[in-house]
Amino acid sequence: MNIQKLIRKNIAQLSPYSCARDEFKGEASVSLDANENPLNAPYNRYPDPLQWALKEKIAKLKGVRPAQIMLGNGSDEPIDLVFRIFCEPKEDNAVAIEPTYGMYKVCAEINNVEYRKVFLNEDFTLDANRVLAAVNEKTKVIFLCSPNNPSGNLLNRAEMLKIVENFGGIVIIDEAYVDFSSEKSWLADLDKYKNIIVLQTFSKAWGLASVRCGMAFASEEIIAFFNKVKYPYNVNLLTQNFVSEELDKQERKNAWVKMLLEQRDYLQKELKSLPLAEKIYPSDANFILVKTPDANGIYKYLTDKGIIVRNRNNVSLSLGCLRITVGTKEENEILINTLKELTID
Ligand SMILES: *Cc1c(COP(=O)(O)O)cnc(C)c1O
Repeated sequence: MNIQKLIRKNIAQLSPYSCARDEFKGEASVSLDANENPLNAPYNRYPDPLQWALKEKIAKLKGVRPAQIMLGNGSDEPIDLVFRIFCEPKEDNAVAIEPTYGMYKVCAEINNVEYRKVFLNEDFTLDANRVLAAVNEKTKVIFLCSPNNPSGNLLNRAEMLKIVENFGGIVIIDEAYVDFSSEKSWLADLDKYKNIIVLQTFSKAWGLASVRCGMAFASEEIIAFFNKVKYPYNVNLLTQNFVSEELDKQERKNAWVKMLLEQRDYLQKELKSLPLAEKIYPSDANFILVKTPDANGIYKYLTDKGIIVRNRNNVSLSLGCLRITVGTKEENEILINTLKELTID
């Protein structure tokens, strides 16, 4: 796997911005190098641009090396960086499954990169051959999301592997919902497959969506390019410190996941008894996709009662579908009771 060959020429040749924190590392007694205000510690100082203290902790937890991690302002940041690092605007293209997370397409369009959608099967399973058939010599990256958003299902590992092994470019495996899933993470295969980038986030199971911290895991070689292109101080000190503290509360996170999985079972069971749920798709995530006879009508009915779900009626293969996030016991019961009061002819 020749990663260098996949990098845009201007990025390969780029001399990155060298900030004060890059040029001097270590403990100083007099810091007069970064035009900071000397008062108001610790917030007066620029934070560690590579967040090493936090990465050490994450590395231990995830069983990877710190240099295999890039942290961003949510995982949306590494998604955008993937285009900026690998895809030449108006020339290269990206392939992605459809339907999937909307940010891949938005970032492709912002970066003026062709975005090729490859439909999943009717039941949202993955056909590797169909994905590989969409690839041409200008395809630099393939986006896979497992468990997938909005369908909720895990993609078949053997099919994913077929893509990883047969594609000569980068495969992004978005594992935003991995904590809710029964399948193991691709992180264990990071050293084996040099062309994968695994995305995870603190926004879902860890309950930290407002803190904005996402993780990209890849070979040291790929991470070095992320570090070269990202804003120098992309993760602020408050986020670095707070995430670091929250990482010590792994048992609380696990208890939340357990509760949410029980609640997912409850919702699935209750929805099954409702005539308006024509089909409940299997979920390995903290949400459930439900096919209904009238997604827009039910969406409006719920909204009028102050209950907001996601209307996926206009999303490919999701005609009539609503995406319901698993909430607390109380919230889920309100939803179910409200749906029970709705009669559909
Ligand atoms: C929610 C979600 C993310 C997380 O985005 P952040 O920017 O980390 O909050 C990433 N990928 C998918 C598929 C998601 O659903």
